[in-house]
Amino acid sequence: MLTLDFHPTGRHFLQIPGPSPVPDRVLRAMSYPTIDHRGPEFAALGLKVLADVKKIFKTTQPVIIYPASGTGAWEAALVNTLSAGDHVLMYETGHFAWLWQKLATRLGLKAEVMSYPGSEVWRHGVQAHLIEERLKADTAHAIRAVCVVHNETSTGVTSNIAAVRRAIDAAKHPALLLVDTISGLASADYCHDAWGVDVSISGSQKGLMLPPGISFNAVSAKAVEASKKATLPKSFWAWDEIIEMNKTGYWPSTPNTNLLYALSEACDMLLEHGLDAVFARHHRWAEGVRCAVKVWGLHIQCADPTVYSPVLTGVMMPEGVDADAVRKIIYERFDCSLGTGLGKVKGTMFRIGHLGDCNDLTLMAALAGCEMGLKLAGVKLAGSGVQAAMDYFSSHAATVLSLKAA
Ligand SMILES: *Cc1c(COP(=O)(O)O)cnc(C)c1O
Repeated sequence: MLTLDFHPTGRHFLQIPGPSPVPDRVLRAMSYPTIDHRGPEFAALGLKVLADVKKIFKTTQPVIIYPASGTGAWEAALVNTLSAGDHVLMYETGHFAWLWQKLATRLGLKAEVMSYPGSEVWRHGVQAHLIEERLKADTAHAIRAVCVVHNETSTGVTSNIAAVRRAIDAAKHPALLLVDTISGLASADYCHDAWGVDVSISGSQKGLMLPPGISFNAVSAKAVEASKKATLPKSFWAWDEIIEMNKTGYWPSTPNTNLLYALSEACDMLLEHGLDAVFARHHRWAEGVRCAVKVWGLHIQCADPTVYSPVLTGVMMPEGVDADAVRKIIYERFDCSLGTGLGKVKGTMFRIGHLGDCNDLTLMAALAGCEMGLKLAGVKLAGSGVQAAMDYFSSHAATVLSLKAA
């Protein structure tokens, strides 16, 4: 029999950048009874969550909710807007951007990949001017879509999406702008409408503080128009029937009812708190964690302080230290999960998540686990990062500590 007694006492510290720790309030909401997805009660839930998620994406346009992980919503964005052989311009900021490119290629799209010129691979955000130059050179307008990742979860680097929009406009290019904000949404500011994004892709288990299992496409009118002509095969992922039925709060197939309860609860929490206060909270946690990393004398994976991620911090290991060996010690000795290095950076770095249901003291505990584990692994630390983070948190009061009065 499977026994779930691996973590015998206290709480496990889930400090990976998704799935993130789920608030108890959300877990309790998930335990409501599963109801008839064609019944009257369901429509109220459906309409509520569809209205709430629009506020989170900062859009007045349709948001499609899929019972799938983020990868499904990646696929949905492409199959709804593109046709076989279409040329797409993708920017490789890290492992997730690379995986999206792989998915596009497997769908039969012609993916052209741009990346940071120079040796600091996977340490910078999207360079919008390079996209502008590339689009200007595409005088025939062969490129149908520009695909970028808002918060690259493999590295802890964000990208300036408004700048990418400006680059496309400056090149007077008709390409669609498709943005993966699977881990950025609800931790870093995101403006689907104001930034002129055509399809925004997100998922449940990162900033939205839900378990894995639902994902999103926020769409623009231009994307909906493109979906009418796009010929990549689509049925389950097709937006048209879903958008139509969503008008009355229902879905063509069975939605993920209990995760929608969770979504409703999480949106209440985020919106009651206020999105700006939520973003400030993650920014502050990220600052505290980065203070620790700097005082340890270690490098942060993101080489450009202007695009540090509020969601996670990538911690680079000194030459010769295996990041996964350090993670293993921290997991086995202190019951704390940290994110592994993915793809090209496997073994050279690990990731500390500061998203989901955290607070100053859960992050302090995670940093203490890191500091002890690094020392046990024989890493020479320049100073106490734990002390540095305590100093930061105690000298920078959180701007909003309590919920707004009802
Ligand atoms: C987590 C993540 C994905 C993949 O989503 P799944 O839910 O694992 O399918 C894609 N892109 C980014 C940026 C992510 O953080």
